[in-house]
Amino acid sequence: MEEWCVSMPKIELHAHLNGSIRLTTLLELAKALTENQKGAVNISQVEHVIMKHDLSLTEVFQLFDLIHNVITDHNTVTRITKEVIEDFASDNVVYLELRTTPKRNDSIGMSKRSYVDAVMEGLRSVSSVDVDFIPNTQDSTSLSNLPIITNENSRKIIIVRLILSIDRRETTEAAMETVKLALEMRHLGVVGIDLSGNPKTGEWTTYLPALKFAREQGLSVTLHCGEIRNSKEIKNMLEFHPQRIGHACFFEDEHWIKLKSSKIPVEICLTSNIRTFSVASIEVHHFACLYKAKHPLVLCTDDTGVFSTRLSKEYKLAANSFGLGRWEMLELSRNAVEYIFADNGVKNDLRIFFNSVANNMEV
Ligand SMILES: [Zn+2]
Repeated sequence: MEEWCVSMPKIELHAHLNGSIRLTTLLELAKALTENQKGAVNISQVEHVIMKHDLSLTEVFQLFDLIHNVITDHNTVTRITKEVIEDFASDNVVYLELRTTPKRNDSIGMSKRSYVDAVMEGLRSVSSVDVDFIPNTQDSTSLSNLPIITNENSRKIIIVRLILSIDRRETTEAAMETVKLALEMRHLGVVGIDLSGNPKTGEWTTYLPALKFAREQGLSVTLHCGEIRNSKEIKNMLEFHPQRIGHACFFEDEHWIKLKSSKIPVEICLTSNIRTFSVASIEVHHFACLYKAKHPLVLCTDDTGVFSTRLSKEYKLAANSFGLGRWEMLELSRNAVEYIFADNGVKNDLRIFFNSVANNMEV
């Protein structure tokens, strides 16, 4: 099963760039921090935390703080992007929607635009696989020969699209700036807007104008929803009817009813939910109930670096915990094609590709 979870083609729709940093890179960057940059970071403690595989919640947040401290310049953003793409490709992810919060740091001349440019540079600099991130303006695309499984000798291709995140600490104006940037960068593969950040911070009404504007302009929207108990906000978010939501952990009965009738696809991040105690244990995870109800679902990693996971590990965890076989795994992955934010050309190519994988499997 483990081998199958790795070799099977997969779709990743909820991955944060910074949280997906390689731990070896994080350690290297942490050691290179100057005394000034280190601030409150104690490197010897950090080294111990980074190399652990089972982090406590406090340690998870220590890691997020550290990541924030080390990713301070354009070159680092580019390097991390490159490595994250390589890691997803090596796990046989064929389509990846990578999300990141454009950051402004006046002291080093970083604007939201130059931050995303640095991400783009990272996509361009990947050499171990072919990265398709510029949307094709023609009707047909050249991706119908995605080589995994069907032709293992040819070079791997990974299709990457970007989602720009609005941080919950931001003002309406800052959120709007991110949406405008996403619109400007559509031709470079930016396909959507996400709302994320500390769920205890901020008000839904602050981001709503920017999210509405994004939708009016044809961008897809996904929301981190139900990360904490906040009945009113969950209700508002479901009423907004985003194209997808992430997590859906602290839902109450009325939310489940609304979600199921809305058919809004849910990005499920099993390891992340358990590590952050958003769900008590894998046995009671809402994946089981939604899967049984045939609700649109996609398995995702959230933060491969922080949670020491990979998409294949998430599939294996689902297989072991909920008794899914190889065929069910592939179906779960294939169904995710329908929930991607890229255009119909990409969707069609992926459908054809997954069909061919499924047909080969039957033989
Ligand atoms: Zn997330």
